[in-house]
Amino acid sequence: MDLLKDKVAIVTGGSRGIGEAITRKFVANGADVAFTYLSSEDKANALANELSASGQKVKAYKSNAASYEDSESLIDQVMKEFGKIDICVNNAGISRDNLLLRVAEEQWNEVIQTNLGSVYNMTKQIIRPMIKARSGSIINISSIIGVRGNAGQSSYAASKAGIIGFTKSIAAELGGRNIRSNAIAPGFIETDMTHYLGEGDNAKTYLSKIPLARFGTAEEVANVALFLASDLSSYITGQVICTCGGLNM
Ligand code: NAP
Repeated sequence: MDLLKDKVAIVTGGSRGIGEAITRKFVANGADVAFTYLSSEDKANALANELSASGQKVKAYKSNAASYEDSESLIDQVMKEFGKIDICVNNAGISRDNLLLRVAEEQWNEVIQTNLGSVYNMTKQIIRPMIKARSGSIINISSIIGVRGNAGQSSYAASKAGIIGFTKSIAAELGGRNIRSNAIAPGFIETDMTHYLGEGDNAKTYLSKIPLARFGTAEEVANVALFLASDLSSYITGQVICTCGGLNM
């Protein structure tokens, strides 16, 4: 399939997990991809080298999505090196889970700035070239925790709920310029972030609540990102697509 032929995408946090799967999926569908990482330099460069064998342009950039300055210079550099940006996937995220009584201000700020601040940092920069091109697809990775809330995840839930409000507002602001903005709300997906899923009784408790009776894969989230990035979703904006095996309905 070549759903993204001649498109350029930028993916934050593309070195591991869901971001890596999205990067792979986009390249497999014909896109050139710039992706970021924060600390896993070797893994990011290995991925970029591997995917460059496709003949498409794939490059890893060390850039802290929580930093406005980093995001500004990232977009400048990618525009210079790739010439345009058609698709932006705001995926980078962290969790620092704890009951509110134990959430330190520093942890709260770190989660909000990394998960929600990053979406502002990137989107603020990316919409200039997209407005000029009168075309673009912005895909923000939220979470069903942002839709439903969850004990022990107040900072994470607040950041992910914030992403949903932001996504809808941007869709309303920029629809007239043919820029679409949608969110994906994954459920429990097996990645480094959710290493605890396989551990003992916890796994059974989580699974008992999922109608499809299994955890999701990063590739299943990447398939939804591909749909939202491509023209297959040309009349879809301001939506939140739960990719959660039916956990949220
Ligand atoms: P992951 O396996 O922990 O990977 C996180 C990725 O984000 C890594 O590439 C990491 O880079 C990057 N990253 C973290 N902080 C960054 C920063 N400040 N600047 C740039 N890159 C940064 O996580 P994941 O499970 O794939 O999650 C990806 C997204 O999906 C997150 O937004 C997460 O909240 C969301 N999500 C995940 C699940 C799930 O079940 N896994 C469910 C719902 C939503 P390094 O490799 O350099 O550290």
